[in-house]
Amino acid sequence: MGLMILKDSEQKLKDRFGDRLITNHSLAKLNTFGTGGPARLFYDARTVDDLVAIIRAVGELEIQTFLLGGGSNLLVSDDGFDGLVMKNSIMGIELDGNEIICGAGEDLQSIVDFATENSLSGLEFATGIYGTVGGAIFGNAGAYGTETAGVLKSAQLIDKQGDIRTEENSYFKFDYRNSILKTTGEIVATAKFALEMGIKGEIQGKCDKIRAERNAKLPVNALTAGCFFKNIPDKAAKFG
Ligand SMILES: Cc1cc2nc3c(=O)[nH]c(=O)nc-3n(C[C@H](O)[C@H](O)[C@H](O)COP(=O)(O)OP(=O)(O)OC[C@H]3O[C@@H](n4cnc5c(N)ncnc54)[C@H](O)[C@@H]3O)c2cc1C
Repeated sequence: MGLMILKDSEQKLKDRFGDRLITNHSLAKLNTFGTGGPARLFYDARTVDDLVAIIRAVGELEIQTFLLGGGSNLLVSDDGFDGLVMKNSIMGIELDGNEIICGAGEDLQSIVDFATENSLSGLEFATGIYGTVGGAIFGNAGAYGTETAGVLKSAQLIDKQGDIRTEENSYFKFDYRNSILKTTGEIVATAKFALEMGIKGEIQGKCDKIRAERNAKLPVNALTAGCFFKNIPDKAAKFG
């Protein structure tokens, strides 16, 4: 991409978004490795409308973009990112019967805690998984044999044109740490989880047990992005 084109695109975005568009914003504090250079442009999207507006504005320009969640599954280059980083900070958690509806920028752990508080079971497995709800859907985050796919009912997506629509679980073609979002580039704005009514003490007990197991296995307070290796099926793991 030519420098002039990039500068021109940058100026158009600055004219439109003013102070909300930050130049040369450090990404090191926004990922769990704590490394990496700056984003040439950075925008904190706090609402669905914020995200739609910036996606639509960028659609007409020659500028590369990256959607940042909790930064817990990223290795940011020391050269930084020569484009626009959009941080998903869409918050809000609501209860509707046995369902939780939330902004995709919420920490997954906040949803686990909210579910426990409301005696809803199904999300205990996610105790201690870093990152946002959007990141968990993107990569079908999971642990202890359970994955995001098992509890997600639907999600509101924003496509590259900035159009919003809601898709049900089957759309995401969830697989091991995979979803269709890795090919479509759509962004999760909000999510709905379908859970089961349970007994608060039991749900809390499961979460506590998982937390203790994780703490015993993982280096607590280390700068990491979690596990780097794929769990392969038992059969394939046997030699000879
Ligand atoms: C200590 C530790 C333990 C971990 N344990 C586990 C574990 O047990 N199981 C597990 O599965 N993972 C684990 N992880 C990895 C990480 O927590 C997950 O991959 C998490 O789901 C990433 O979410 P994030 O918001 O941080 O995504 P980011 O790191 O910000 O982004 C990762 C990818 O997701 C995309 N993305 C983020 N938000 C959205 C969105 N709203 N819409 C579309 N795409 C989006 C980004 O563009 C990027 O491509 C662990 C990480 C740490 C640091």
